[in-house]
Amino acid sequence: MQRRPLRPHKGEQHLEPNTNDDKEYYQYGGPKGAFFTSVCFVGLTYIVVEKIQSGKWQLLRLPEFSGNIRDWLDPGAAALFLGWLGAQFVLYLLPIGGPIELGAPTKDNGRKLAYRLNGFFVFMLNMICLSVFAYVGLRITILTQMALQMLTTGILTFFLLSIILYIKAMTLRPRDRSPCGQTASTYYNWFIGAELHPRFGFLDLKMVLFRSGIIGWMIFNLVNIVDASEAGHLTPSLLLVSGLQLVYVMDTFWFEAGMLVSRDIIHEALGFNLLSLFLMIPFTFCVQTRYLATTGFTLPWYCLITILGLNLTGYWILRGSNSEKNNFRRNPKDPAFANYQTLPTRIKGKSLLVSGWWGLSRHPNYFGDILISFSFALPTGFGYFLPYLNPLFLVMMLVDRERTDGAECRQRYGDVWDKYCEKVKYRIIPYVY
Ligand code: NDP
Repeated sequence: MQRRPLRPHKGEQHLEPNTNDDKEYYQYGGPKGAFFTSVCFVGLTYIVVEKIQSGKWQLLRLPEFSGNIRDWLDPGAAALFLGWLGAQFVLYLLPIGGPIELGAPTKDNGRKLAYRLNGFFVFMLNMICLSVFAYVGLRITILTQMALQMLTTGILTFFLLSIILYIKAMTLRPRDRSPCGQTASTYYNWFIGAELHPRFGFLDLKMVLFRSGIIGWMIFNLVNIVDASEAGHLTPSLLLVSGLQLVYVMDTFWFEAGMLVSRDIIHEALGFNLLSLFLMIPFTFCVQTRYLATTGFTLPWYCLITILGLNLTGYWILRGSNSEKNNFRRNPKDPAFANYQTLPTRIKGKSLLVSGWWGLSRHPNYFGDILISFSFALPTGFGYFLPYLNPLFLVMMLVDRERTDGAECRQRYGDVWDKYCEKVKYRIIPYVY
């Protein structure tokens, strides 16, 4: 699936599409596919939250939803959710906890935007506050009981926000809007987003909301650990999964500068699509720790050590490849790259790495991420499918993302990209795919 190319960006070559069929240039197969996807995302998140709250993991049990509006929307849960989200905005704006750094030139008009990289500090602050609340006897486990009401608050808030962002984008000149959100369908443009970097002053919404999704995931994990310790379910499987997920998140924030050159920040617009994905993170990524906390299931130590090995392999690939590309993009003249093979492109100062990690496959980092994601699910055994939903969803998402990214790289780099693909045959998994 590619996006509809409307105009070339600064310094980019404009390639005409191979077909006149517009539908091929939409993500999710166009407006109807986008509608179906958003309904599925939201519906699936509600089903996962019902399972998390009920702790009933029987294979054939259908989720049971209440008919009482207070069970869906509650002023206390709404105030808690919005107050917490507001605090994340304020913490991003405060001049503490991390430096300000410039991102890559934006796709719309080539500006370099400034970001405060204090994600690690904000994350630690959230964890410390929650631990203190638990220590002094506040019942933080109430957060799970409020999860469904908080999810509804999140959906309504993000729905409203996506409309505000769409209207805001319409006040901009077309050249300052996202190229992917300028199709003939208003619905699709709203869904996929019409502005790449919506900001209110220094406040970058995409950066803060992505960060908040990940912090929310860790908050629910901590709640699950407290629940498990009260129920006597603090098993080796649970400790391993919580530890591995914590390291993954700490790594993401420690190397936060890498986010500034990621697809989400550079190429994706902020519409209801990305907003709902950010909202899904805290409610669905904690499913593995929730399952282990409520069932008390654990695997024998030799299985857990094998899974740890899988995780470390994935981590080595993910960190190695991401750091290699990020360092190369930041400083291609670094002597560390003196012996690397590269392909110069038509865009000034931009080459493609053809050796190292990026010579093994076109997205070695996705392969690392997939291995890590399975290492989060395997400690739950094979008794229930829901813990495997995240890795399977990630595989689908990254396979689609690799194709979208490849199509965009081809548009950017023309026949140099074709040459790169000839040299590097595998898309994600070396020698397999
Ligand atoms: P990448 O970090 O893979 O970036 C893709 C970009 O890298 C391309 O658009 C191109 O941009 C550049 N590039 C491609 N090939 C080369 C090359 N050979 N040499 C130099 N530059 C190259 O994409 P993402 O932003 O999608 O992923 C970032 C991280 O986030 C990944 O580790 C991914 O696994 C992770 N992720 C995790 C998710 C999760 O839910 N766990 C979901 C999505 C992503 P340009 O040339 O313009 O610099």
